Amino acid sequence: MAAAGRGRSVLPHGDSGLRPVPTVLPPSRAGSLRAAAPSPTGPARDMTTADLRREVLEAGRRAGLAAVGVAPVEVFESTRRILHRRKAQGHHGGMQFTYRNPERSTDPGRILPGAAALVVGALDYARAAAPEPVPGRPAARVARYASDDVYGALRSALGAAARVLADQGYRAVIVADDNALVDREAARRAGLGYYGKNSNLLLENSGSWVVLGSVVTDAALPPTGERVADGCGPCRRCLDGCPTGAIVAPGVVDARRCLAWLLQATGDFPMEFREALGDRLYGCDDCQEVCPPNRRMPEAPEVGEQASVDVLDLLGAGDEELMERHGRWYIPARDPRHLRRNALVVLGNVADGSDPEVVGTLRSYQRHPDRMLARHATWAAKRLGLEPETATAAAAGPRRGPGDGPAGDS
Ligand code: SF4
Ligand code: SF4
Repeated sequence: MAAAGRGRSVLPHGDSGLRPVPTVLPPSRAGSLRAAAPSPTGPARDMTTADLRREVLEAGRRAGLAAVGVAPVEVFESTRRILHRRKAQGHHGGMQFTYRNPERSTDPGRILPGAAALVVGALDYARAAAPEPVPGRPAARVARYASDDVYGALRSALGAAARVLADQGYRAVIVADDNALVDREAARRAGLGYYGKNSNLLLENSGSWVVLGSVVTDAALPPTGERVADGCGPCRRCLDGCPTGAIVAPGVVDARRCLAWLLQATGDFPMEFREALGDRLYGCDDCQEVCPPNRRMPEAPEVGEQASVDVLDLLGAGDEELMERHGRWYIPARDPRHLRRNALVVLGNVADGSDPEVVGTLRSYQRHPDRMLARHATWAAKRLGLEPETATAAAAGPRRGPGDGPAGDS
């Protein structure tokens, strides 16, 4: 969870913002990456729980987890109170995810009857910054956690740990990027790290470029280690570095101001934050980029596959193509108009108003039957200094072409 969305990126309350997936599969889905059932040949259960814990943790590390631990199954009382309080104060900004049902998302016992332990893993997704755009082609930035399928890799690594449990006759359900559990709190209780003032979980010695997930099991594994003490000290770089002042107090992100959440919300992008959005299309990494523990880590060599998106190309693509490219992301109502809305704001912020392709795209969207898109195109055109459309041009009527959905004003 990063700042105010989901999991890693930065939504502040334990959610990543990636598309929610079916939470918990029934144990009958043996072999699935999300649930592992006991071996059909019967439970082996020939290990002590201490030995089993060691095997499970080793399997997770071998599968690529940067850190893995075990937390007890208990209600996350303090987290539940915080979720309710922030909802009452409006800080969730309409965000659902783990806010939808705090009684559920703070009670791991509801995920699996007889749950006795949580195996919690963190997968490193550090990536290099997006490359500079090709001159003349407006480009949008994607947060690192969304630039590759890091949750797929996380589920796969957790699956390796779950398989060890299943082979010993225990049930194991994988929960990652899911509304069923506040993953940051599970990780904190497993001793993986501490909450930063940006509301992310920071791993001891290695920062916050990680996604988090759990395996809920009925094996009574002993919890690992001590909880990690706060490591922020007097630092406040994330509070000062947030482009919209969304971190309103240490550890408190107001989703109504958080770009990561606003890019995932429905409706018009708030006027007061459009310029601050800059070139971000999905997610925001700023409060992690400025964080000293992250900056001390060695520079990651690779760039995420989708770290940068060609804005004009996106605005010319059809619905099916967009969902094929970006359907892994959390897109409200699975409607790509929200991606186009974000892209139009980016275009207004980064494009050259004398480029004929930019002008043609904006003029076309100004006549779009979806009035939300038309409004954002008009804002972008104005920001780029384009003259208002002439009556003759406007009379050419609504544009038809890629991306035209039913007219709407929501
Ligand atoms: S820097 Fe600010 S706007 Fe960006 S994710 Fe962090 S809290 Fe949200
Ligand atoms: S930037 Fe500083 S205050 Fe913010 S999370 Fe990182 S260490 Fe903590």
